[in-house]
Amino acid sequence: MIHLVSKKIVALATVCVLLSACGQLQSEQEKDNKVNSSDSSITAPAVTEPTSNVDQSNTEDAADNPTNANQEPETEAVPEFQYHINKAYNVVPNEEGINKKVVLLTFDDGPKEQEMVDGLLDTLDKHQAKAIFFVNGYRVKANPDLLKEIHDRGQIIGNHSWDHIDLKKENSDNARKQVEDVQQIVEDTVGERPKFFRPPFGSGNENLHKIAEDNSLIYMTWSNGSLDWDSKSKNKPDVVIQNVMDQLHNGSNILMHELPWTVEALDELLTKLEGQGYSFVDPRAISEAPKEQQS
Ligand SMILES: [Zn+2]
Repeated sequence: MIHLVSKKIVALATVCVLLSACGQLQSEQEKDNKVNSSDSSITAPAVTEPTSNVDQSNTEDAADNPTNANQEPETEAVPEFQYHINKAYNVVPNEEGINKKVVLLTFDDGPKEQEMVDGLLDTLDKHQAKAIFFVNGYRVKANPDLLKEIHDRGQIIGNHSWDHIDLKKENSDNARKQVEDVQQIVEDTVGERPKFFRPPFGSGNENLHKIAEDNSLIYMTWSNGSLDWDSKSKNKPDVVIQNVMDQLHNGSNILMHELPWTVEALDELLTKLEGQGYSFVDPRAISEAPKEQQS
């Protein structure tokens, strides 16, 4: 019962997809770097990728559990909209009095492998943290069960385009297809369309912002790159952790990937973030920017 309820809740949230290029990861992510700062439509943050639950233990059906049969199921509270993504792609409160000392956790370019997905999900559960998994369509097509697992375990799916190509170089129709095909396959796979979009390599333009808006997608790149894609981080979880800690600030939008050393780093990273007093923002608490902030 709880499981079903959780699905419904997550539906309220929204999801996205991502995946892609980490297969040929190094070279692709290097490209990321080169184009990342080229998003002319935004004020570029210090970007780095590129350059620079649900309780599943209780799956009993209500019918099998007379004591619960007439009760409302235990639900995981869906947060109110409390935050938005600002022009520098930080997560900021919508109003005074809301905790500013938060970070947003994101994992791009999956879903790729069962073991890595399980590792990330287990660590997120351990820290009661929610994250956005920005997936690529071609990987969702190859691994639909992994997408379902991410969704069913209460994490949020984001759209990272179908092929992980530089959408700024595509014509408008192709760019739109790259985004909308992911919206569709995610809905077909988990029953909900993504609510968040992150362009591959952080590379976008006005047209891409418009495509995102047409699909009710909140557009973001990131503001704290773990550099886990970089060859200097390969097999070095400590380097990934240090890169994040070095750039840490209120509202950090932390870019990570589905990579073995990131999976290995995550528990210690989250422990360190907690130790410094940071909370993990629930992506479902992120809304469109308030009107006065959009100008
Ligand atoms: Zn990517």
